[in-house]
Amino acid sequence: MEKIDILSLDFEELTEKILEMGEKKFRAKQIFDWLHVKKVTDFEQMSNLSAQFRAELSEKFCINRLNIKKRLVSKIDNTVKYLYGLPDGEAVESVLMDYKHGAALCVSTQVGCKMGCKFCASTLAGWVRNLEPSEMLGQMYESERDSGKTLDSIVLMGIGEPLDNFDNVMKFLKILEESGFSLRRVSLSTCGVVDKIYDLAKLKLGVTLSVSLHAATDAKRSEIMPINKKFPLKQLMTACDDYFAATGRRISFEYSLIEGVNDDESSAKELIALLGGKNCHINLIPINEVRERGFKKSPYVERFQRFLTNAGLNATVRRTLGADINAACGQLRRDSKDE
Ligand code: SAH
Repeated sequence: MEKIDILSLDFEELTEKILEMGEKKFRAKQIFDWLHVKKVTDFEQMSNLSAQFRAELSEKFCINRLNIKKRLVSKIDNTVKYLYGLPDGEAVESVLMDYKHGAALCVSTQVGCKMGCKFCASTLAGWVRNLEPSEMLGQMYESERDSGKTLDSIVLMGIGEPLDNFDNVMKFLKILEESGFSLRRVSLSTCGVVDKIYDLAKLKLGVTLSVSLHAATDAKRSEIMPINKKFPLKQLMTACDDYFAATGRRISFEYSLIEGVNDDESSAKELIALLGGKNCHINLIPINEVRERGFKKSPYVERFQRFLTNAGLNATVRRTLGADINAACGQLRRDSKDE
C-alpha cells in the first residue's frame, strides 16, 4: 500500500487519521507541531511519542522531502536560487531573497505552466502537473533548512499559475495558517484567471493579490498573454474590484516593461485610464530577458514611472535581485532539461 503524504494533510485530516489509529486527539496536535513548526524530517525525531507509535506512523505515512539539485548564489545580493527535485523526478525552482525586513521565498505552484505568456520562461518546457501541498511547503522548509533563515514572507510567483492549481494551493495556505504563518505575509500572483479570483475573494484569506497586467488594452494584452482572450480586461477589472470590496485588501498590479511593446507614453496613458482612481499599487518590473523570447528590457522604466506618479498613481520599480543567477522564473528548470 502506498504511504500517505502526511505533509499534505491539514490539521483536521491529520486528526481524523490519528483517531482512526486509536490514538488520542492531542497526539495529532503534537505531530502537526513536529511537522510544521519544528519541521522534522523523520518520525524518529518525534521524541514525545512512543517508539511503538512512531513505528506505526512510519508504516502508514511518509514525510516527503525535496532534494536540492542545484543551488545558485548571487554574488551581488545573496539571492539564492534553488532547483528542487521532486519525488517523481520532476523539478521546480524557488528563489530566496534577502530583504531588510526579512527573508522572502518565491514559491512554485506547478511543474511548468499552461498559460503561455509570451515573455515567460515557465511555459517553455511545457506543463507537466500540479504541485501537492507538501511540495509547496517543502520548498519553504528545505530553503529554511539550507539557509538557516526563517522565512518572513512568501510570494507565489514561481513556476506555474496558482489559481490553475486552486485546491492544492488553498490546502497549502490552510496548513500554513494552521502552523502559525500569517497569510498576511503571503502574496499570490495570477495572470488573471477571473472565475478563480471570485472564489479566492470568497475565502477572505488575507493574502495580497498580485495581478500580472503588463498591458492596459485588450489588443496589446491578448498579444502577449493568451489568458486575456478568455478573460478580457473588463472582466478582470470587475473581478479585482470585487476582490477589494470583499477583502479590503489593496491589489498589486505587476507591469513588466518590454522595449517597444508596452513602455511608451501612450501605454502609460492607457494604464492611467485603466487604473486611475483605484486604490491599488503598481509594481514596475524591468523585464528579465529570456533567451528564446526575443523581448528586450525597456530603457524607459523611470520615465514610465514618472508618467504614472504624475497622474497620481502609486507606482514603484521593483529592485532586480539575483541578476547574475538567471533568477527569472522557469529558466533553471528549462536549462536543466536541456542538459
Ligand atoms: N502565473 C502567475 C505567477 C507566476 S509569474 C502570474 O502570471 O502572475 C510571476 C510574475 O513574473 C508575473 O507577473 C509574470 O508575468 C512575471 N514574469 C514572467 N516572466 C517574466 C520575465 N521574463 N520578466 C519579468 N517578469 C516576468
